[in-house]
Amino acid sequence: MSGTQIERNIAQVRERVAAAARRAGRNPDEIELMAVSKTIAAERIREAYACGVRLFGENRVQEFEAKSAALSGLSGARFHMIGRLQRNKAARAVSLFHSIESVDSARLLSAIESYAAERRVTLPVLIEINTGNEEQKAGVAPQSPELERMLALAAELQHASVQGLMTVPPYGSDPEAARRYFRQLRELRDAVARRNLPRVSMDVLSMGMSHDFEVAVEEGATRVRVGTAIFGERQR
Ligand SMILES: *Cc1c(COP(=O)(O)O)cnc(C)c1O
Repeated sequence: MSGTQIERNIAQVRERVAAAARRAGRNPDEIELMAVSKTIAAERIREAYACGVRLFGENRVQEFEAKSAALSGLSGARFHMIGRLQRNKAARAVSLFHSIESVDSARLLSAIESYAAERRVTLPVLIEINTGNEEQKAGVAPQSPELERMLALAAELQHASVQGLMTVPPYGSDPEAARRYFRQLRELRDAVARRNLPRVSMDVLSMGMSHDFEVAVEEGATRVRVGTAIFGERQR
């Protein structure tokens, strides 16, 4: 095969996403590929952009702030925050990112709303669900009072716009082990969607990483977050 390694990797990931979609009777166009670019240098992010990738995921405010000047001028590129966000960094996150996928408390959602209001922007956000109910893990527990507080709050907001759910399931080397968590997220999404809450959309299901994105697509992912399978092993 010709082209750079990143180019080949992206082509392969896209093919695997499409094949998984077809297996599940889904249209491959319904699934968006996010290249997770945390720890990756700007020039390699530009290389992925040149291969047609427009959506990138970063997990640290400070790291992305440092890289962002070197990433200017990528027309149409969107950068999403997918890592744990402390409230004292929410203002910077709102000014740097096109979306925050890791919102896991009503307090954080409310902070994002006020910073987005100050800037007079609408910021799409996802609610991160701790599907495995793991201690020490980011995300709000499914069926929890905190999730209910977040949904009730979301219905009142004018600037932070809830678009769906995100999860990082418990890690297992066997991708099949993640299936039940992906299914759980889809079922939760369907249950919330049925309630028709004002200003709450449940269109986005962000789930699946390098080792399990095909299973996630089979279970209904509309966005997969792939780092290693595109950029190779991370140095740190
Ligand atoms: C790092 C990361 C990914 C991508 O992980 P890979 O295994 O490298 O594909 C996806 N989602 C989140 C939240 C991450 O932090």
